[in-house]
Amino acid sequence: MQMTSVTAPHPDPSGPAQHAGRSDDPRGSAAQADHPHPPHAGEGAGRVDWTRVREDFPLLRREVHGKPLVYLDSANTGQKPAAVIEAVDGFYRSHNANVSRAVHALGTEATEAYEASRKALARFLNVRADELVLCSGTTFAINLVAYSWALPRLKAGDTILVSRMEHHANIVPWQLVAQRTGATIKVAEITPEGTLDLDALRRAMTPEVKLLAVAHVSNVLGTVNPVREICREARRRGIVTVVDGSQAVPHRPVDIAAIGCDFYAFTGHKMCGPTGTGALWARREHLQAMPPFLGGGEMITEVSFDGTVFNDPPHKFEAGTPNIAGFVGLGAAVDYLEGVGMAAIEAREAELLAHMTQALDAVGGVRIFGRAPEKAAVVSFLVEGAHAHDLATLLDLEGVAVRSGQHCAHPLLQFYGVAATCRASLAFYNTHEEIETFIAALQKARRLLA
Ligand code: PMP
Repeated sequence: MQMTSVTAPHPDPSGPAQHAGRSDDPRGSAAQADHPHPPHAGEGAGRVDWTRVREDFPLLRREVHGKPLVYLDSANTGQKPAAVIEAVDGFYRSHNANVSRAVHALGTEATEAYEASRKALARFLNVRADELVLCSGTTFAINLVAYSWALPRLKAGDTILVSRMEHHANIVPWQLVAQRTGATIKVAEITPEGTLDLDALRRAMTPEVKLLAVAHVSNVLGTVNPVREICREARRRGIVTVVDGSQAVPHRPVDIAAIGCDFYAFTGHKMCGPTGTGALWARREHLQAMPPFLGGGEMITEVSFDGTVFNDPPHKFEAGTPNIAGFVGLGAAVDYLEGVGMAAIEAREAELLAHMTQALDAVGGVRIFGRAPEKAAVVSFLVEGAHAHDLATLLDLEGVAVRSGQHCAHPLLQFYGVAATCRASLAFYNTHEEIETFIAALQKARRLLA
């Protein structure tokens, strides 16, 4: 049976955006619920009309250098469905005001819209809305943990454990903390196929380790780390865990409560949402104990020159005017992803990944980095005799967008002893035909570079 593409995402363009917090909010009581529900799961890739889903993404219709665009850079940033673009547009056209500062109608609408998105995200990820700090993205979220949780607690002799496959956003903040506290950084190594060596990781969880920072999914290798198991082991040893969910949340059902971490960071722009949006989920006890990261408006309840009373979490960590329209768009992105179904998205991307891997292996002379048994749809590769940037430039001339470089993961590339790779990263809106176009373009580029 073919399912129609997506049911919810198109808001009435003449009316308020979907997350405008109206009393007739089409998401009804679920959107207003304070208590989360488990993320839905179930339908497989075969029940979704992926051709129609793709039509929801206006940018994918454009051409590049006279060729139809083949966008294979979704690990870098995702494309946006019309529902998200319209939600942002609708907010600015009909509801724009600042949050939590005005009693007038627009101020109330803006605040409700912003908070509705927090609730939508909380429902999507199975956490409490009041444990979700909205911020500009993963980089901010991890820095918030570094400066508010780690900096006041860690001292000389303590250790921060990070994996070899981390993005710089999950390395550099810990180095900054280590420099200021005297703590040291220890690296959990990987196997050549790109999986975490779990025995070595367990052995590395020594009593000095106070914090473990690990990616849910690697942005270079695509490896899906067993974060539930890792966090359980860490918790048994009293180690606080920070999971970087940037590459997981857009591509698979994520249930943060089930993972059992202490902190979970993610970014909105990779999950069909606007840039400059994202969140940090943290256990309530941490949020209560942590001092604010930034001071200013919104994060206080009372200020005098004798002192300041801070607002309750999560607002305590949301100083200043947030990216209100962006979060309205992110709420629409959550609705959109739920409409397609995260289980269906995961299954679809697994099919596309299998196709791309098989096709690349068939080309010959292609080295793929990352062959983990559980892998998301990210393929880093090199072609014998060709530099990654030259390859990416020639692919671009054929309309194919891939990323080349070090993917903000220098230590990982150092492990493989290469200066750069090309990375083709897929999303559910890609097609099997696009993979064929990519392979044909790669073969052409290879001939030119030979
Ligand atoms: N971690 C991972 C695994 C990522 O892929 C990225 C984005 N490339 C980040 C962190 C940083 O995300 P942002 O730039 O949105 O803060």
